[in-house]
Amino acid sequence: MNASSVRVVQGKDGIPIMLRDEEPFFVDRWRDVETGNEYVNEYRLVFSFDEGLFVEIVQRSIGGEFSWEVSLDNLDAESLMRLNDSGSLERIRAKVKEIMQQLTENLDSLFFDPIGDRRRICYVCGSYALHECIRCNKDICDQHAVFAETEYEEPLTYCHECFWKAVEDDPYQERL
Ligand SMILES: [Zn+2]
Ligand SMILES: [Zn+2]
Repeated sequence: MNASSVRVVQGKDGIPIMLRDEEPFFVDRWRDVETGNEYVNEYRLVFSFDEGLFVEIVQRSIGGEFSWEVSLDNLDAESLMRLNDSGSLERIRAKVKEIMQQLTENLDSLFFDPIGDRRRICYVCGSYALHECIRCNKDICDQHAVFAETEYEEPLTYCHECFWKAVEDDPYQERL
């Protein structure tokens, strides 16, 4: 069983959307008796996380190359038998299993910390910081923030250190 023949097609975000067995499970060569043209049909098994299993048929002739998709239900008996004997189903299934396992393992890290880099911690005590000092721009928690107001009643948030400096700088500010 050659598992390496299965190619994984990923979306822009790197999440697998489709698996395709590059190794055709059936190569059908035939000749049109009227025109004498030769045709080659290659059958490949594809699994899409959206649509499930289907077969991609690529037809080559002197006229060029084109392809279409057929569901397993609509595959003729001979092609189905070839598919059964080829090991392609097992190859795709093994790869899908492997991907599902990886996704499950990644799930923990994906869901672990939704806030991530946006989490801010108080520079004094290291606990969760909801505020920022308007003077030094450091993050501060509820406990280490001082809430003051300008004379026009605009709210001001300081860290303790900057608050006392502000008080010293402003001769008119009342000491608390
Ligand atoms: Zn704090
Ligand atoms: Zn400060």
